[in-house]
Amino acid sequence: MQTRRTFGRGLVAGLAAIPAAAQQPAAPQGRAGGGRGNFETPEEYEKHPEGSPIPGQKWKVHDLKRPLPPKVTPGLPILSPAPPSDAIVLFDGKDLSQWVSGGGRGGPAGAPNWKIENGYGEMAGGITTKEKFGDCQLHVEWTTLQPTDPARHGQGRGNSGIVLMGRYEIQVLSGYNNPTYSDGMAGGIYGLYPPMVNPTRPEGEWNSFDIFFEAPRFEGEKVTKPAFLTLIFNGILVHHRVELLGSTSTLPLAKYQPHGAEEPLGIQGHTGPARFRNIWIRRLKGYDTGTELFQPA
Ligand code: MG
Repeated sequence: MQTRRTFGRGLVAGLAAIPAAAQQPAAPQGRAGGGRGNFETPEEYEKHPEGSPIPGQKWKVHDLKRPLPPKVTPGLPILSPAPPSDAIVLFDGKDLSQWVSGGGRGGPAGAPNWKIENGYGEMAGGITTKEKFGDCQLHVEWTTLQPTDPARHGQGRGNSGIVLMGRYEIQVLSGYNNPTYSDGMAGGIYGLYPPMVNPTRPEGEWNSFDIFFEAPRFEGEKVTKPAFLTLIFNGILVHHRVELLGSTSTLPLAKYQPHGAEEPLGIQGHTGPARFRNIWIRRLKGYDTGTELFQPA
């Protein structure tokens, strides 16, 4: 039985619906949302003490006692590699034909509603890939913009996310000068790990994620291998093969729910504003997948 969380004051939008054709029997749901929404002060936090202790850590989910990662200024230019020859180009700045809209809150999936211009797409609702992926290397570039209402802050400012397998969110958020709880910062594995350092660039400037993801394995209901994630953020290692404990973004801490070996990749449609460009992915197939042998002379 799946439950939908109702806190977060309606901010759980975004990846609201994986297209029906892409669904596993008991899989996707709109779990890629914002969790605590805009609870930004200790007083608000104390009113909403849902944060569960995180197994293996001394922190709770969204723990305001957890220190903020130190700022690091990345070297420029940021990493912006063109796709290698074995990559699947998911967005080249021109069209989103590899994606479908989440369709809002459970509505029908359709063509993404994003505005595409000048080599980028501007987030307008969540989108998911038509194709499914498991173990992968993923490159994404993104920027957030100053919102029309400059009073928007914290999780309400530039919020989107890269949602691996429709479940495991790496946070996209204005992070240069926009305080929020540490495990909800840009580059954080939402509700689980802040980035080790914060290399986020100012709103309007581009950032890059290079993600290396090992999908979890299941046998029936049992997790036989958890997911592991590495993230290079603007050229800086901020997660180094950390173990994921389950799907992100829920309170209390989510547990794994079995899903397919491959699932659609999502970009969360949260509050924005956020833009994306140069998205490509490589399936990681392991060693010894070649077919040729060395022929000694
Ligand atoms: Mg998000």
